[in-house]
Amino acid sequence: MKPVLVVGASVGGSVAASTLAKAGVPVILLERDLAWVKPCGGALPPIAFKEFDIPESLISRKVRRAIIHSPTERLAEIEVTGLKKGRDEYVAMTCREELDPYLRLQAVRQGAELIEGKLTDLKVHRTGVTAKYVPKNSRETQTLEVEAVIGADGAYSTTAKLLGLPRPPYCVAIQHRIRLPQEKMARWQETADLYLGQKVSPDLYAWAFPKSDHLAVGCGAGPGKAHEIRQMLHNLKERIAPDIAGGEVFLEEAHALPIHPRDHIAFERVMLVGDAAGLVVGTSGEGIYWAMKSARRAAETLIKALPDTSLKALQRYEKSWWQEYRMMYRFLQWLQRWGYGSERQMEVFTDMCRNQDVQRLTFESYMYKQMTPVPWVAQMRMTADILAAQARHFMSAGV
Ligand SMILES: Cc1cc2nc3c(=O)[nH]c(=O)nc-3n(C[C@H](O)[C@H](O)[C@H](O)COP(=O)(O)OP(=O)(O)OC[C@H]3O[C@@H](n4cnc5c(N)ncnc54)[C@H](O)[C@@H]3O)c2cc1C
Repeated sequence: MKPVLVVGASVGGSVAASTLAKAGVPVILLERDLAWVKPCGGALPPIAFKEFDIPESLISRKVRRAIIHSPTERLAEIEVTGLKKGRDEYVAMTCREELDPYLRLQAVRQGAELIEGKLTDLKVHRTGVTAKYVPKNSRETQTLEVEAVIGADGAYSTTAKLLGLPRPPYCVAIQHRIRLPQEKMARWQETADLYLGQKVSPDLYAWAFPKSDHLAVGCGAGPGKAHEIRQMLHNLKERIAPDIAGGEVFLEEAHALPIHPRDHIAFERVMLVGDAAGLVVGTSGEGIYWAMKSARRAAETLIKALPDTSLKALQRYEKSWWQEYRMMYRFLQWLQRWGYGSERQMEVFTDMCRNQDVQRLTFESYMYKQMTPVPWVAQMRMTADILAAQARHFMSAGV
């Protein structure tokens, strides 16, 4: 059998390659630049470590408290706790310069062949796929004959482009990594902060995520506002100036973040996973877990289907994905539009996050990735609180 080509050796691609290689499928993992570090906040739910065999030593810091700041600096202070008591619960902060090489190494250890080079062309034909790439530091195009392709090449996916697919809408996110004096770092011991406001992040939220020895501060802007992103980061840093005084920026990074998933993620001999498929969830902008999850699902579909790589066989990946997660994507997209749509709604969103049922259900589903049935008493309490907040903010805005 010809090998399977996985394009992109970041979180999604490495998990796809590991899964295929472990099942004995020959696999080539093609990465444009092994030294590149994906711009990312690095927040991961604890379940990811169990599910994808990632050692906890890669957790840079455990966050047990989140503070949401409304545009007018009203706070929602939240303990990171799910629905059951007595569990060790947290949001894991990781650094992509450590996580990505680890996952890549696992893929190689399972038997994947890692090539550093950039995909430039794909031709799908009756007996396979002809892929062309240019190795790093070379100008000579190389050719690979492969059975099928998994495109894990991120928001600007070359694989999707070569299939003739349009680029889905995305926001641009920018981040400064800041080394703080030790006494300032204490403020972020176990706390991550999210900042709402049109001036700092009109369509998402701005963040301050603590790592073991630095703070990652960033924000995102949706379509049509990307050119204002530096000003927004500047506004954020002014807003939190006392907390980061004396800090030194050692890295500025920015990248696209898909905000709308693709309906079709499986094609004749080709599947798209992670950001290439637009699988970042709304409201939180969480994409690492979903990249790894979709990559594993795509690889498992292929393992079961091989040698059949027809559209019908690979569509099982697409169908099972949307059967399980369509509702979640739709709900979180709606919540993002509702909660971040204007400064008034951001105030309502902050109030909603003060409700303890909302807090515990949110973290239960974030940490364990299960849709939890909501007891009707809690539903009533949440609905009443949200309606009251909505009415309060309508009246205070004089509408
Ligand atoms: C600023 C920012 C902050 C974020 N914060 C968080 C967060 O805190 N938590 C979270 O869960 N998610 C976060 N995300 C989203 C998360 O980073 C992505 O969802 C995740 O990295 C997607 O993984 P992926 O493997 O699909 O693609 P990527 O991580 O984007 O990797 C794509 C890989 O493909 C390679 N590649 C691209 N083109 C080619 C080519 N032509 N040939 C060969 N290789 C190629 C790239 O070099 C790269 O290694 C953030 C995103 C941004 C931009």
